[in-house]
Amino acid sequence: MDVITNVSEMQARVLSIKDRKESIGFVPTMGALHEGHVSLVRSARNENDELIVSIYLNPTQFDNKDDFDNYPHQLDKDIEIVEREDADVVFAPGTEEMYPEGFCTYVTQGKLIDSLCGRLRPGHFNGVTTIVTKLFNIIRPDRAYFGQKDYQQSIVIEKLVADLNMGVDVKVLPTVRGEDGLALSSRNKRLNPEERHSALCIYGSLLKAKSMFASNVKDSKEIIEEMTSIIKKAKHTRIDYISIVNANTLEDVSSINGKAVAAVAVWIGNTRLIDNLILE
Ligand code: AMP
Repeated sequence: MDVITNVSEMQARVLSIKDRKESIGFVPTMGALHEGHVSLVRSARNENDELIVSIYLNPTQFDNKDDFDNYPHQLDKDIEIVEREDADVVFAPGTEEMYPEGFCTYVTQGKLIDSLCGRLRPGHFNGVTTIVTKLFNIIRPDRAYFGQKDYQQSIVIEKLVADLNMGVDVKVLPTVRGEDGLALSSRNKRLNPEERHSALCIYGSLLKAKSMFASNVKDSKEIIEEMTSIIKKAKHTRIDYISIVNANTLEDVSSINGKAVAAVAVWIGNTRLIDNLILE
């Protein structure tokens, strides 16, 4: 496996893959890898000739300096994890490569970023759409793999690819959870044991939404009230949002009639976690 840190070297490698007419599977990550990332890497390995994993902590998608400064780093360990999964290339550029001096072109999106995390994290999704566009232009993947854990991100990227005719097959894979149900996240590494225990309220609230919906409760307000009370009962929690949205448009729905998503963002101490479940 090769570790490439330079954009032009990465592009040369991609050209040689394209010359051989091999398919490229791509998994973009911000590092601090866990089994959720590994599930994307494994699918990409199975479905493509060449597998490229990027590890890049993208500063433009952080709206909070503290979050960026405290994001876990473990590049050497990440490289070992990806090598074990038989990837061909890790692309780990520095910020001077991705945003050289004078960089001033951004990709922005409308409507889909008006709700959920987009509403509360100004600039976040413009950072995501910009970096994903840059990575897709460098790596020119046939297929790219994302997790349902970041539901809004997956919808934003599907729309980015469709609207800008990028011709990448976007695959969205299920959320990988710990045995206790907590969605795996790089940010979980920042929780102390008591906070980690409190964080279980997130999945608990989503399971409540699912069971209410299964027993025919369609009223979002009623479901959100129950979810709120579960999260408020747990220690160290502060709710950013609890929403039930249309699964395609991400607009709030007052009553669940088509495919919907229950989505939650909660601060556990100083760590903000998100999770969701599809209701259909
Ligand atoms: P990140 O490194 O957090 O930017 O995540 C890189 C990719 O891994 C994104 O597509 C995430 O949605 C995905 N991902 C993160 N956590 C999980 C998880 N628990 N299960 C599945 N995919 C995940």
